[in-house]
This record gives sequence, C-alpha cells and structure tokens, in this order.
Amino acid sequence: MLRIRLVLWYAFLVVMTVAAVGAIQYILLYRSLTNELDTALLDDARATLRLVETRTTQQLATSSTTPKTNVPRSLKDIIDEALAQTPDTIKGDELTDRVLSYLMNEMLNQLSAQDSSAANPFDLIVERTLTSKRNNMVEILAKAPDSSGKLPVIFRTKNLSSQSLYNVYKNHFSIERDTAVTLGSSIFNDDEVRGAYVGSKQFGVIVSFSTNYIDDTVSGLLRTYLFLLPIALVIASLGGLVLSRKALKPFEEIAETAQDISAKNLSQRISMPARQDRELRLLVSTLNSMFGRLESSFERIAQFSSDASHELKTPLAILRGEIEQMQRKIAASQTIDRAAAESMLSSMTEEVARMQRIVEGLLLLAKADDHRLTLELETFDLAEFLRSIAEDAEILTIDRELTFHSKIVSDQAIIRADKTKLYQVIMNLFDNALKYTPKGGEVTMFLERSGKEVRFGVSDSGKGIALEDQDKIFQRFYRTEEARSHRGAEYVARSLGLGLAIVKSIIDLHQGQIEVESEPGKGSKFIITLPLV
Ligand code: ADP
Repeated sequence: MLRIRLVLWYAFLVVMTVAAVGAIQYILLYRSLTNELDTALLDDARATLRLVETRTTQQLATSSTTPKTNVPRSLKDIIDEALAQTPDTIKGDELTDRVLSYLMNEMLNQLSAQDSSAANPFDLIVERTLTSKRNNMVEILAKAPDSSGKLPVIFRTKNLSSQSLYNVYKNHFSIERDTAVTLGSSIFNDDEVRGAYVGSKQFGVIVSFSTNYIDDTVSGLLRTYLFLLPIALVIASLGGLVLSRKALKPFEEIAETAQDISAKNLSQRISMPARQDRELRLLVSTLNSMFGRLESSFERIAQFSSDASHELKTPLAILRGEIEQMQRKIAASQTIDRAAAESMLSSMTEEVARMQRIVEGLLLLAKADDHRLTLELETFDLAEFLRSIAEDAEILTIDRELTFHSKIVSDQAIIRADKTKLYQVIMNLFDNALKYTPKGGEVTMFLERSGKEVRFGVSDSGKGIALEDQDKIFQRFYRTEEARSHRGAEYVARSLGLGLAIVKSIIDLHQGQIEVESEPGKGSKFIITLPLV
C-alpha cells in the first residue's frame, strides 16, 4: 500500500538523518577532545621542562659563590610573557587556561626561589600535578646516558609506580631529534592513554594521560542518540501517517469519483481541485479528457452498431419477404411461373449483394481501426494512373448523359502508394459524382502538382453538400438528408453511407489528407493530397 510505503520511507529517512548527525557529532567530539588533550599534554610537558630547567639552574647558581637574587616580576610581565609564548591560533578558554597555567608555574617558581634555594624541583612538579585538572603521569629523563648506556630516569610521578613511559612511547619519537611532539594513543596498564614529549639539551619530559574521560563523554553522547532514535522513529511514523493521509486524500476522492463513472454515466466528470494543487488539477483534467474521449468513442460505437444493424435490417427484411412470397406461391399452386421466379431471385441476389458490400466495407474499416489493413506500396506515376482510369470513367459518364472533363497535368507525379486501394478511392469519389449529379451536369477528374505534394480528385456540378454536413460525410453510414430522401431504386442499391469513410481510412493510411469544397446547388470537389516521392 502506498501510504504504508510512504510512512516507512519517511521514518527511515528521519532515523537515518538522526543516526548520521549522531555519527558525525561522535567523530567530531572525539577528535576535538583528543586534540584538546594532546595540546594540554604538550603544554604540561613544556611547563614541567621549564620548571626543571629553571630550578636546576637556580640550584647551580646558589651553590656557586655569588648568590643570585631572584627579582620578583610584576603580574603584567608574566602575563605578557605567557601571551608571547602562546601561538596566535589559540583563543578563548584555551588561551585563559594556558595563561593561568603559565602564571601558576611562575608563581611556584618564585615562591620556591624565595622560600629556599634548596627546594626540590620535583616536589614542585608533584605539587603542580596534584593541583592540576588532570592527574598526569610524568617521566623526566636526563639525556646524558649513565655508565650502562641507559638514559637515567630522574623523576617519575607516583601514579606510574615503577613503570616506564619511555618504554611505552619509545617508538613514537626520537629523543635525539624531537623537541616537542604529541605521541598519540597507546596502551598502558590495559588503558588507552595519549601522551606528549618535550625535550631540551639536558632533559626529556614525557607526559601522558588516560583517555577514559574522552570515552565516557563520547559514549554519553552515543547513549543520548540511542535514546533519541526510537523517539524520532515514533514521531516520524506518526507524522508520516498524518502527512501521507493528508497528501493522499484528494487522490482517494478522485479515485472514488472515477470508480462511480461507468459506461452508463460517462458524461459525469470529476470536479476540479483548488487552484494551488497544480499536480492534482493536471491529473483531474487528464482523467476528464480521457472520460471525454471514452464517452465519444462509446457514442460512436453505439451509433455505429445501430446504423450497421439498421442497414442490414432492410435488405434482410426484403429478402425474407421475397422468400415467404415464393413459399406461399409454391404452396398455393405447387408450381411457380418461371418469369416471376427469375424476378424474385434477381431481387434477392441484389439484396444479398448489397449486404455483401456492407459487410465487406465494415470489415475493411474494422481492419483499418485495428491497424491490420496493410498497404502494398509501389512507386508509380499517379498522372498516368489517373489518365488510364479517366478513359473508363468517361464511358460511364456518357451512359448517364453527363459531360466528362480530364484536367490531369502532363508532368509526372511519382508517388508511393497501394494502386488497388487508390483505384478504390478514386472510383468511390467518381461513383458519388455520378450519383449526385443530375443529367446534363459535368464531372471532372483533376490532378495538379503543388510543391512537394500532388493534389488530385473528382469534382462535379451536382447538388452539392450543405456546410453543416461537410465534416460529417466521412463518418460511417452518414448520408445527408438530401441523399436519404431522394432514394430511387438505383440509390437504394448503391448508397451505403460507407464509401467516404473507407476513402478517408485509406488516405489516412497513406499519410495523406482529403477535404471537400462544396456549395449546395453548384457542385462538390473532393481533393486528396499525397506527398510526392
Ligand atoms: P453513399 O454510399 O451514401 O454515397 P458516401 O460515404 O460515399 O456514402 O457519402 C456520404 C454522403 O455524402 C452521401 O450520402 C451524400 O449525401 C454525400 N455526398 C458524397 N459525395 C457527394 C457528391 N459528390 N455530391 C453531393 N453529395 C455527396
């Protein structure tokens, strides 16, 4: 069902969007937290190195002969110094953190300098580590190898016990070359840790910290999204249901009305929706025009069946009458007069022939409707072809006391067409001209070239066709009132009302056109246009 599919798609898209946003946030948060930790570790390592170097230099200085007085500096000087050492890219809270951390180191330096020249720098590191936001693991190495060639560890924070950070990270940096590097992630005591290294000529400082808090923060975010996902799913499903119902309602209404329209009430139409619903209006107008076409084709079929049965009814009734009459005569006298029998039989043959022509005509039209009527195309000169028909036609006109004219141009008019069917077309037009032109009138067969086309046909000086009938005469079984009322015996035999319908089907099949120019009382001209080869 479309509605369910829409809801499922909608819910799926919403859930995928929430999941994608969650995944992106997860990655961004994880990266920003690890970057932040790396920068902080590097700062801590730098501060620790500074502390170690200052204190050891001071110790050396105090142990020398000239005692050096440590001149206290102003707060502003220290802040300026901190700012000068901080890269420009660092701003906001991070900048404040850095300056404060620098300030704290300096204050510890100065306090310890004033307090006692013998203060142990490593105590200060411990103190700093304890008072810092993180309980960092710190290891300080002296760069001068001891007698065994190993780098002596001169300090380790308690949280390291006796384990070496250098062993964990030694593949991540080069103690000879690197001065300040972040060491990335590593495993220490089954814990993921990140670290930083800062080195001077004398010392190397490794600072490391567990990433547990990062994992906690990002998994908190993940939990929030996992909690949000089912809620989003429920909201999306309900919302989708409401939206799809609203969006599909007009279509359901249209479908209901369309269902009501059957063969019996094809004149009914679906009412137009509001102006703003363009797509709906398009659908409704398409359906309505389809119903319109259906209606007219139903009407045509109904009209056609009634006309066809009507046309067949008359000859059948005559045939039956004649047979019954014959039977009665035979029953009465046991014998039948030869001349009477012959006349009845010839009348019957006429009716049978008429019915045969109707059935053949209908068969041809049905084939044309079904696209089963095929053409046997050949290329020939139409002017020459018409000239040969005109010779026979002239004899027929003389029989009827009509004057015949041939206005066929002497040029060639090469076309590609079905000769037999084209002969049928011309003879139909010619036959009509004979039927509807009174004695003494004129019949003309004409052909002229015009550009890439040839125009040809038959014209007469007969009774003509009223304007309102001119487009109907090509319909099946259509006869003008005039033609119906003036039916002599000859007309009854020859007039079927199918001739022009057949002509039009054949010309359509040749991709041509047929038109009529006529004025009642003056005559008619049937013009066919076909493309030249
Ligand atoms: P029919 O067998 O009745 O001639 P057609 O389909 O050939 O059937 O013609 C349809 C109707 O068109 C005729 O009944 C007649 O009323 C009219 N018609 C056709 N040709 C002519 C013509 N040359 N002059 C006047 N009316 C014509």
